Amino acid sequence: MCEDKFYSQEEVHMPHITECYLPRRYGLSWDGTSRALIVAVSQRTTATKRGPRLLFEGVQKEFRFKKAELSLKGDFGFDGALKRRVRSAHEMIEFVGLLPKFSFYTDDPCPECSGSGKRRGDPETDCLYCWGSKKRYLVEHEKAQALSASLSLLFLTLDDRASGETSETEEKQLMEIVVGCRPGAFFLSGSFGLSVVEWLIRQRMNRPIHEIVSAMKCAYRFMFEKSERFNSDFDFDAKVTSENGWLNIICPGQGCGLIPKLNSFGRHRGYEFSDHNIDNAGQQLTLLVALATLHDLVEGAIVPTAA
Ligand SMILES: [Zn+2]
Repeated sequence: MCEDKFYSQEEVHMPHITECYLPRRYGLSWDGTSRALIVAVSQRTTATKRGPRLLFEGVQKEFRFKKAELSLKGDFGFDGALKRRVRSAHEMIEFVGLLPKFSFYTDDPCPECSGSGKRRGDPETDCLYCWGSKKRYLVEHEKAQALSASLSLLFLTLDDRASGETSETEEKQLMEIVVGCRPGAFFLSGSFGLSVVEWLIRQRMNRPIHEIVSAMKCAYRFMFEKSERFNSDFDFDAKVTSENGWLNIICPGQGCGLIPKLNSFGRHRGYEFSDHNIDNAGQQLTLLVALATLHDLVEGAIVPTAA
């Protein structure tokens, strides 16, 4: 007779931030001046937690990253993408990820038009590769992928609650973030806790949340240099579209953005969200900047302007 114990759903259920307030494990913020995503954790967390080695090795191999650091006691992640610093006033540790350039002009002449800026045989038309700038335009995925993969492993490490560790802080975990990162495939999902949804419900419906929109524009247009040729201000949006706090976020791409998960929205006071059509690490990081700015707004670190 098989005596394996089957656990009922009640027995394995762990409280989740969509259902109740939970103590903070990490915070997220956006520094628009240095264009950095910042993940803040307690010193105690960095002393006890460590990234999952097998996963680290797998991701490093897949992306061919040169360096991997899985201890939270130093810079974390791949190829130096997340720098560790101490915010001594609050006894917190911050992991700082400066956004890299994803596509940009170099000082070299454009190889397609030999630096003339014009199409070959058609001096009236701008070169399609450099758009008349005469400079070589480069696309570099590596640094954005290293930051994305590092954040992926960092959130995974910080979301591990298996140790049963409790936090001494009275601050709440505002959101949980899952960054998925495989070569050629990038995902972003997570959950908004009660405080975030309460804040969203207080916003005016169908009005852009300016701080989120402008942070995304700043991030995207820094990473994708001169990309405003291909997108307009209308390709960036963040607005609450229902009185229950349904948040839509859009960034340039083929319908790229974040929306609530239908099977989660309305079940509890918080809800889960997931991405739509992320094609590259740059879009994924832009949407993370939106989440970081939302975190700052809910925290009161920045005050929203009137719509
Ligand atoms: Zn050219």
